[in-house]
Amino acid sequence: MKQLIGIAHNIEKVIIGKITTKNEMFSNKNDLIFVTRNNKIPNGFVAVITSNNSVDEKSKCFVENVENISELYDNDIVTIYPDGRINVVFEIKSKHNAVFVTERCNSNCIMCPQPPIKKEENEDNFELNLKYISLIDKNTVSIGITGGEPTLLGTKLFEILSAIYKRIPNATIHLLSNGIKFENYEYASKFAQSINQDIVIDVPLYSDIDTIHNSIVRTNTFYKTIKGIYNLAKFNIKIGIRVVVHKMNYDRLPELSEYIYSNFPFVFHVAFMQMEPMGFAKDNIKDLWIDPVDYNNELEKALLNLYYRDLHISVYNTQLCVLPEKLRHFAVQSISDWKNIYIDECKDCCLVSKCPGFFASSKDIHSRKIKAINDLQAKIA
Ligand code: SF4
Repeated sequence: MKQLIGIAHNIEKVIIGKITTKNEMFSNKNDLIFVTRNNKIPNGFVAVITSNNSVDEKSKCFVENVENISELYDNDIVTIYPDGRINVVFEIKSKHNAVFVTERCNSNCIMCPQPPIKKEENEDNFELNLKYISLIDKNTVSIGITGGEPTLLGTKLFEILSAIYKRIPNATIHLLSNGIKFENYEYASKFAQSINQDIVIDVPLYSDIDTIHNSIVRTNTFYKTIKGIYNLAKFNIKIGIRVVVHKMNYDRLPELSEYIYSNFPFVFHVAFMQMEPMGFAKDNIKDLWIDPVDYNNELEKALLNLYYRDLHISVYNTQLCVLPEKLRHFAVQSISDWKNIYIDECKDCCLVSKCPGFFASSKDIHSRKIKAINDLQAKIA
């Protein structure tokens, strides 16, 4: 997430609040964090963020000497830490906001960009997340729930869902889950009873072969995930399948697509995606990296196999110039804004506004075939 740094004063534990650049005299400031360039710290706000470095205040909560405060907008939500970090956890201008519910996970994927952290359940920031949800802009149309593995919250996940319904009842929820916990029919049933809103559960499946999937997630959980998908389907919950493609699984993409259609023709969506070279993916890059252009044949077979059978298909995190022209219309701008970049080559490209671009971490790890498209007739559909 986007992060700013400053020098914190009188902040002893993490603070969460909604950004405002307005200091209105009679407004309720209880949940607001005021952003200013001045050295005066007004009363009533949860905290103040200022770019100024000559604040003379003894007792108020503020962070001074913060650069780039113009990157903060009214109705963003931030957390402020005692060490002066300011994390922008909700960006009003973004379509990719999420509630990050836990850093714990019951998988250990070899390409996880955000490796799990061993923590106790009570370190999940549950109360902070409930507060966060209560501050989300009411016009939000889509929100993610992510981790770690969100179902490790057990029934507390239902409280998170309930808080979301209360705050943004018309939003679509995208829950990222490895599906393992839904192997338990009772949990899947309780989950189904707890939802009363449009929700899609996106479940990763990396191979049609159990041992290959298990060697990627580094747990013996292939059949648990399969059972979880079936249990969710029994309750008519919308399911998306996500396939991160790399050297360990690219060669069986056509077989995987056949497996998906044969076993889960009911799925709502299937997404094939480039990996993000961060965390474990970066550590294991030698075992994982294959230039995406080198698996276009397998990707094409997999995509068209599902597309001609009327499944809803997408390609995430993939640059248009890497894809054959006839596959470009499957590409979706899926990379979160704060880590989405374009490289020098893109400056002269006529498709830059439609291209998903790169993860910031892909700046030096990307296809050899990146090349500006100059043909004004170039098609993406
Ligand atoms: S040159 Fe850049 S903007 Fe153009 S298609 Fe390739 S990655 Fe996308």
